[in-house]
Amino acid sequence: MDLGIRGKTALVCAASKGLGKGCALSLAREGVQLVITARGRDALEATAQEIRRLTGTKVTAVAGDITTPEGRAQALGACPSPDILVNNAGGPPPGDFRNWTREDWIKAVDANMLTPIELIKATLDGMIARRFGRIVNITSGAVKMPIPELGLSNGARTGLSGFVAGLSRQTVQHNVTINNLLPGPFDTDRLRSNFAFNAKKLGKTAEELARARSDANPAKRFGTIEEFGDACAFLCAAQSGFITGQNLLLDGGAYPGTF
Ligand code: NAP
Repeated sequence: MDLGIRGKTALVCAASKGLGKGCALSLAREGVQLVITARGRDALEATAQEIRRLTGTKVTAVAGDITTPEGRAQALGACPSPDILVNNAGGPPPGDFRNWTREDWIKAVDANMLTPIELIKATLDGMIARRFGRIVNITSGAVKMPIPELGLSNGARTGLSGFVAGLSRQTVQHNVTINNLLPGPFDTDRLRSNFAFNAKKLGKTAEELARARSDANPAKRFGTIEEFGDACAFLCAAQSGFITGQNLLLDGGAYPGTF
C-alpha cells in the first residue's frame, strides 16, 4: 500500500533510538524527508546516517532538548513547516508519589504534556493552510492502564490526551489529524531501565523480570520499534484523513478490556 506521503516533510522528536527512531525509519521508507532530534549528538548523527543509508531519504539531525524552548526553537528552525509532526520525549522516572516535589511534577508535565502542545501550536496553522497535516503523539499504554510506579507519566500523558481529544475534532475538517499512539511493552532501553528499577526493589534480576513480563503478554513477546513505526506511518498516510482523536494501543493484547 502506497501511503501517499512521498515528498512530505516530518519533524520526528526524540528519535535517535527506540520508538521515535522506529517512526522516523518507517516514514523515511515512505519517502518522507526528515528532521530528527535527540539530546545526544553522536547517537543522533549515527541514526540519521543509518536512515539515509537504508532509505536514501534526506535526514537532518538537530541535537537539543525538545522539552526546552531553545530545543524546540532549534528543531522548528530546521523544520518550520512540517507536514507530519511526531511528538516524543523521554518518559518521567518511576518512583513513589510521596517523594515527588512540585518541581518533579512540573518537569513531567513540561516534557510529556506541554512540549507536544507547544509544537502543535507552532505547526498546526501552517498544516491547516496547506490542507494537510498528520500529528502523532507517542504517549503510553499507561493512559488506559495506569502503571503504579509511573504516576508522573500516568498523570502528564493523560492531560495531553484530554487536550488532544478536544483539538483533534476541530482540525480534521482541514485534513489535519491528531492521534495518540499508546505503546505497551516495546523492547527499548527505556523498557529495560524500568526492569532494572523494579529488580532492585523485588530482589530479582532485570532479565528475570523481562522474561516474566514478555511471557505474561498475550503475544508472548515485546513489540519491535519497526512495528511501532509502521503504525505511526499508517496514521500519517494520505488515506488516514478520517482517523482523528484516537488513542491506538499497541500492546500485544495486554489491555484486557473489550473497549
Ligand atoms: P528510549 O529507547 O530510551 O529512546 C528515547 C529517545 O528519546 C532517545 O533517542 C533519546 O535520546 C530521546 N530523548 C529523550 N529525552 C529527550 C529530550 N528531552 N529531548 C530530545 N530527545 C530526547 O525510549 P523509548 O522506549 O523509545 O520511549 C519513548 C517514549 O515512549 C518515552 O516517553 C517512554 O516513556 C514512552 N513509552 C515507552 C514504552 C516502551 O515499552 N518502550 C512504553 C510506554 C511508553 P537522548 O537521550 O540522546 O536525548
